[in-house]
Amino acid sequence: MDPVPEIPFTEDEGLTMRRTEPARDPDEDVYTKFFMNHCCYDAIPTSSKLLIFDTTLQVKKAFFALVANGVRAAPLWDNRQKCFVGMLTITDFINILHRYYKSPMVQIYELEEHKIETWRAPVFSPVPEVYLQYSITSLISITPDSSLFDAIYSLLKNKIHRLPVIDPESGNVLHILTHKRILKFLHIFGSMIPKPRFLQKRIEEVEIGTFKKIATVQETATVYDALSIFVERRVSALPVVNEQGKVVALYSRFDVINLAAQKNYNNLNMTMREAIEGRSCCVEGVLKCYPHETLETIINRIAEAEVHRLVLVDEEDTVKGIVSLSDLLQALVLTPAEISSKAD
Ligand code: ADP
Ligand code: ADP
Ligand code: AMP
Repeated sequence: MDPVPEIPFTEDEGLTMRRTEPARDPDEDVYTKFFMNHCCYDAIPTSSKLLIFDTTLQVKKAFFALVANGVRAAPLWDNRQKCFVGMLTITDFINILHRYYKSPMVQIYELEEHKIETWRAPVFSPVPEVYLQYSITSLISITPDSSLFDAIYSLLKNKIHRLPVIDPESGNVLHILTHKRILKFLHIFGSMIPKPRFLQKRIEEVEIGTFKKIATVQETATVYDALSIFVERRVSALPVVNEQGKVVALYSRFDVINLAAQKNYNNLNMTMREAIEGRSCCVEGVLKCYPHETLETIINRIAEAEVHRLVLVDEEDTVKGIVSLSDLLQALVLTPAEISSKAD
């Protein structure tokens, strides 16, 4: 550790005293500075697919269009107001399925008939509080000139995973930024800055992640049970555990779109085991990490696998925590700037 510097007490008296607080690690804010010095435009790929939905589109068609185009979310255009009014994401698909599902014998009429605007402004079929408690009523976006630091702050503060970059002059959506894209940018261009020493610390030492009250789902539980956990706990993924409590799979919100792809959203009574076996494209096995592994190992693993989180386990594969991109960006970028993304 660096020696604690002696600092003058008052110039006149020439007295000295020892600092009581520990010296700050000079590496601490390298990533904060890195993201402050790069703008959102820098992280936009040269070409990518973008869907925009009119709010009069039927919800079922919208989710089928996401599947058909391999896209996870779309900005919503209101042609009456002539502006973007929000986003449609897989979380919305989960909320709609969970709200209207009755049994495998009953078709989800609302999914077939509702327009996006009906779901968002439910005058005729009131949406219960649980779906609205975190609902966002306008579009959260960012300009291409804004810093990536601001983008990270917006993603974390608003607890969203999709941030459209909108050109203020044309009003066009240029790209939808995500935590993954931002980490990828760091992974590629961050190699040009000296590696901070704290990357060699173990995850148990730096305590980056969530280690208490981890939301998990049993492999014998139903898909409807998993959707209930997504709705109530608002987590982005659930480690799937067996009877011995060992993690055997990971079911993320993204995986729920398989129900639209395979048109089996009318049977949410199927078990998690069946849903996992039926996934069309997914990561092989569970991407995990261990408490003794270093931050650098964990960042490399998560970036290379292009996943949003790792499941922290012990030697018996018992779930001990979640290390998500939200946790990493909070710790590496916002915390050194003394910014917390937690609710005020
Ligand atoms: P997912 O992880 O399923 O892609 P998000 O966590 O980004 O979804 O979305 C959570 C909720 O916030 C959804 O209802 C979604 O429509 C809304 N939302 C997401 N991004 C934005 C945004 N940029 N502006 C307004 N609402 C958004
Ligand atoms: P998104 O791009 O929407 O954030 P996710 O990273 O949550 O998507 O999920 C993308 C795919 O990767 C899903 O099929 C999900 O099950 C899988 N996946 C994500 N994290 C893990 C993990 N830690 N272990 C295994 N599979 C994972
Ligand atoms: P995310 O939605 O993955 O970006 O993460 C937001 C916060 O929720 C982070 O602090 C994660 O560690 C935490 N988190 C994600 N998944 C779970 C889970 N299954 N149980 C508890 N916390 C979680």
